[in-house]
Amino acid sequence: MTLVDLQNFAKLHPGLAALTAGAFGACVGSFLNVCIHRLPKGESIVTPGSHCTCGQPIPFWYNIPLFGWLFLRGRAHCCGARISVRYPLVELTTALLFVAAWTFLPPAKAAVACVYLPLLVLLAGCDLDDMMVPDAPNFALVGTGIILAMLAPSIHGETMHSIEAVNRFRALIDALLGAAVGTALVWWIRTIGSVMAGREAMGEADIILCAGVGAYSGWQGAVFCLFGGSVIGVITALPGLIQAKIKGEEYAGVVPFVPSMAIAGAIWFFRGPELVTLWRDWTAS
Ligand SMILES: [Zn+2]
Repeated sequence: MTLVDLQNFAKLHPGLAALTAGAFGACVGSFLNVCIHRLPKGESIVTPGSHCTCGQPIPFWYNIPLFGWLFLRGRAHCCGARISVRYPLVELTTALLFVAAWTFLPPAKAAVACVYLPLLVLLAGCDLDDMMVPDAPNFALVGTGIILAMLAPSIHGETMHSIEAVNRFRALIDALLGAAVGTALVWWIRTIGSVMAGREAMGEADIILCAGVGAYSGWQGAVFCLFGGSVIGVITALPGLIQAKIKGEEYAGVVPFVPSMAIAGAIWFFRGPELVTLWRDWTAS
C-alpha cells in the first residue's frame, strides 16, 4: 500500500480516515506530553514508565489519550493531584493537526507533516511549560527537514524535472537555503533588537526553530515564520501589555516567540503559496 492508496482510501471513507488520523495523532500527542515533561529536565523519555508526581505508576487505561483525562476529570486516581490541562490540550492539538494534514495536504506532504507538526507542538509545549526549549528536538527539526526534503522533494514543489535525482537535489538546496535564511534572519533581528532593547531580544532556540521551518518550507517559510510569528506573538501578548499600561506598571510577561513561530511555521506548511497569492492580489488592487 502506498501513500496515494492510503489517501484514496481516505477519500472513499472520509469519516473513518479522519477518525484514524485523529486517534493516531492523539497517541503521538500523548508521547509528546511525556517529552514536554521530561526533556527540559534532561530525563529519559523511555524509562521509567508513566508515573504520578506522588510516585505511583499510572495504569495504561488512565493513559488513554484525551479519554483518560476526561474520565479522571483532571485529577490523579492515586492521590487526587491536579493533572495539568496541558495534557489533553497537547493530545487534542496533535490529533486535529493530523486530521487536517491528511484531509488538506497531498499524500507525501501529509506524511512529512506527521514528523514536522509533532516537533513544532513539542517545542511550543516545552516553551510554554518550562520557558526552556531543549536543543535535541530543535536540531531534530532542522535535520529531519533536510533529510525529508530529499525523500519527498514535492514538499518544496520540486517535481518539474524528469530525472528524480535532480528534483531531490533541488529540494535539498531549497531546504539548506531555507535553513540558512532562517538562521541569518533571526540572528540579525536578535542582534539589532538586543542593541535597541538593551537586553537579549530573542534566544538561540528561536534561531534554530526558524532554521528548521526554513528546512521544511524554504526561505519564504523562514521569512513568514519570523514575521508572521512576531505578529502572532504580539497579538497574544497584547491583553497583558494593555492591562499593564492601564495599571501604569511595567509589562512583566514575555512575548511567547517559540509557540508563535511554531504556529506561523504550521500555517505556512498548510497554505504558504496561497498566502503569497492572496498578498499579491491584495497589494495589486
Ligand atoms: Zn498520585
